[in-house]
Amino acid sequence: MKKIGLIGGMSWESSLVYYKYLNERTKELLGGFHSCNCIMESVDFAEIEVLQSKDDWNALDKTMARAAKNLENANADLVILCTNTMHLCEDAIRDSISLPFIHIAQATGEAIQKQGLTKVLLLGTRFTMEKDFYRKTLLDDFGIEVLIPNAEDRTLIHNTIYNELIQGNILEASKNAFKDIINSSIENGAQGAILGCTEIPLLIKSHDVEIPVFNTTELHAETALQMALH
Ligand code: GLU
Repeated sequence: MKKIGLIGGMSWESSLVYYKYLNERTKELLGGFHSCNCIMESVDFAEIEVLQSKDDWNALDKTMARAAKNLENANADLVILCTNTMHLCEDAIRDSISLPFIHIAQATGEAIQKQGLTKVLLLGTRFTMEKDFYRKTLLDDFGIEVLIPNAEDRTLIHNTIYNELIQGNILEASKNAFKDIINSSIENGAQGAILGCTEIPLLIKSHDVEIPVFNTTELHAETALQMALH
């Protein structure tokens, strides 16, 4: 098995999910005492959050590039970045290493395409919903049209991610609000919803809503695992 390098800590609540998923799936696929060969470079999210709120993407590029390089130096064979938002630093990461880098929106786009959907709702941080890096990957590489919630709902989603989910708080009221946002997108033509923040699957499960959801955390981890095993 190849060694998976994970850039984690954004947040550690979802990095834990990656680690657990990778190990459980490795055991399921290989059996016996098998577990996942991986290494995580876990950053301090407080430093990341300050730079995000200042929109200082140059500094964030440098931090992410450094983390990726550390994984390459630690003999990782491939690299994944365990957050949707920080894929804004994709170019800096790719430039800093010579290893394969598996993009979370690529893993997600493949899953949406497999289900034959062409129009989906995207939930994530303000950066993921409002900047075009994520939507562009889905449209350019997969022909998938992306809808985003209205301004009020975007604020609610963003604040819930930072003030609750990243702090490990899963609240019923927020779950209901997310369910309403997803279900009401059906009237705008959404055929599915991307849980485009690695903490949202802690709050919303597929049985909670009326359309298929795409769990970016698991889709990303699964794609990395398949690459590591083949
Ligand atoms: N984990 C989140 C994401 O998938 C948000 C935290 C961050 O800003 O990296 O976008």
